[in-house]
Amino acid sequence: MSEKINFAYNLSMMTMGKVLVVGAGGVATVAVTKMAQLPEIFSGIMVASRTKSKCDSIASAIGGNRVQTAQVDADDVPAMVTLIRAFKPDLVVNLALPYQDLHIMDACLETGVAYLDTANYEPPEEAKYEYSWQWAYHDRYREAGLTAILGCGFDPGVTGVFTAHAAKHHFSEIHNLDIVDCNAGDHGKPFATNFNPEINIREVTQKGKYWDSGKWIWTEPHEIHRPLTYPGIGPRESYLIYHEELESLVRNFPSIKRARFWMTFGQEYLTHLRVIQNIGMARIDPVIYNGVEIIPIQFLKAVLPNPGELGENYKGWTSIGCRISGLDKEGRERRYYIWNNCSHEEAYRETGTQAVSYTTGVPAATGAMMYMKGLWKRPGVWNVEQFDPDPFLSELGRLGLPWHEDFDIDLEL
Ligand code: NDP
Repeated sequence: MSEKINFAYNLSMMTMGKVLVVGAGGVATVAVTKMAQLPEIFSGIMVASRTKSKCDSIASAIGGNRVQTAQVDADDVPAMVTLIRAFKPDLVVNLALPYQDLHIMDACLETGVAYLDTANYEPPEEAKYEYSWQWAYHDRYREAGLTAILGCGFDPGVTGVFTAHAAKHHFSEIHNLDIVDCNAGDHGKPFATNFNPEINIREVTQKGKYWDSGKWIWTEPHEIHRPLTYPGIGPRESYLIYHEELESLVRNFPSIKRARFWMTFGQEYLTHLRVIQNIGMARIDPVIYNGVEIIPIQFLKAVLPNPGELGENYKGWTSIGCRISGLDKEGRERRYYIWNNCSHEEAYRETGTQAVSYTTGVPAATGAMMYMKGLWKRPGVWNVEQFDPDPFLSELGRLGLPWHEDFDIDLEL
């Protein structure tokens, strides 16, 4: 339990600073709401995005002139540089889309400001998930004395911190890692995605991939599935998909023999997804419509429900965690499960968004806090599991995501 770890961090370590959040969707709404509650850490907050009215809505919901707003196209590096120079943040938190990652990293390098995000770069024209593009910035960030923290949402994010916690406190060698992600909520709509529809549909329709005995094994989309039992929820059909944190985790914990990622989908969701693909609406290449070039999946996003506004009627829970087996510190076989359950209704009550935005925005705010306190500050480009998990996990529950752990139970995998 998180309560067990109550590290008394010296108050003198605490520093405060200014944060610039880019993007004004569901995840940014949660992160900025949380940051605004921590004036002793975040002395100044600006939220900037393509559509300024969305930034203004976040700021006015928080009230008290706590949050400044601005319009920016984050793909326009000179415009980002001008904004950063004007606001002078200590940290830029990128909660726009993965397409913006490299442009925002460029702007941070040019202005000498630290960087944090929640999703790895994807080229718009190809749904390809790998850290190579962002890891390539490591030397430039290190030489500039700047920190970049990659993948600080829930998955990626907390799942990497959970794995680092297991390695630090419970295991001498992690052999098997299964990240399990269940959304047992019901939003009452026939079909909606829980975060940006374009990014979400690209992710879940790709081929599956997992790590086994030193190599990647590919599967057809949703080919491997089985029911897994989630705490407080019960059994849910779970599908093996590829998820980006597997790449950094097998690199940073080389004792891992097998690493997989499982996500629950309902039959209704999968049927809609199949139809969307079959009729070509998931295409990411341009087509000509009435003489205008459009990208079908971007048009689809425009007609689907806004994930940030699903919260009002959303009921039920999410449950995300890591099921780990390997050798404990004494060399004995050990099985371990660490997870968080989050209520859609409670997330909505607190922030006006659903639990998927909440479980991403809270870790982003927690990671930003780690940077401001100087606890996760190291020149270079790093994945979250490369930092000390203890201070992060000691704050995570306090900020709204309590976590739990269990030992030597049936992991089902
Ligand atoms: P939304 O689509 O709700 O919000 C994205 C925001 O980014 C919008 O405000 C959008 O502006 C803005 N934006 C897009 N392009 C630009 C641009 N060029 N310049 C400035 N702003 C831009 O997404 P979510 O809030 O659901 O997700 C945010 C991020 O979080 C995504 O990268 C997603 O992949 C990631 N995520 C990570 C998770 C994790 O656990 N690690 C889980 C869930 C999401 P506009 O309103 O004008 O379109």
